[in-house]
Amino acid sequence: MSTSIFLRSLKACPECDSLAVFCCSSLDAVSKYSVLCHDCGFEGEEARSTQAAIDLWNHPKAHTPIKRYKDY
Ligand SMILES: [Zn+2]
Repeated sequence: MSTSIFLRSLKACPECDSLAVFCCSSLDAVSKYSVLCHDCGFEGEEARSTQAAIDLWNHPKAHTPIKRYKDY
């Protein structure tokens, strides 16, 4: 039984470019996981699993709404 979390695939912090990033979990009723930068405190998006949190850290969702207008 091991709860160790290996973070081999984490990218550097997008805010300060530090590699001192780690995955932490909250102990609420529903477990949530997020990646946190140890240097600047930047926190990635919360996810339901460690792997999902890492994915969100490495590939943050871009908030770029796509609007299309027809040309007449
Ligand atoms: Zn940072």
